[in-house]
Amino acid sequence: MRIALVAHDRKKDDMVALATEFAPLLKQHTLMATGTTGGRLQNEVGLTVERLLSGPLGGDLQIGARLSVGEVDAVIFLRDPMTAQPHEPDINALVRACDVHNVPCATNIATARMLLGEVGRR
Ligand code: PGA
Repeated sequence: MRIALVAHDRKKDDMVALATEFAPLLKQHTLMATGTTGGRLQNEVGLTVERLLSGPLGGDLQIGARLSVGEVDAVIFLRDPMTAQPHEPDINALVRACDVHNVPCATNIATARMLLGEVGRR
């Protein structure tokens, strides 16, 4: 599967912990991520990740564009619900694109665990 990973700044430690736990599974799939998230996944977890632009510079939109043409199968998007983001429209666009195209999108750790658990059963 092609899995996109995005974490807002205050969620990046959670993303690294999640990816570390699921690293053996994630290594079997094609990964892409927004710039900073992807850098941490590469450096701290040792995953091979295609790094797109940073979220505030258009990374979410890149993922949304790929997803819209069938090039993304699942999204783990650890949003920070407590901090205003300058690229809120982009965030909404990505989540909307997931709903338009019926692509699973986990926006918190609990759902991400369920999603990755399901990926692992396939
Ligand atoms: P980043 O982008 O991984 O480049 O920080 C994520 C975001 O903040 O939307």
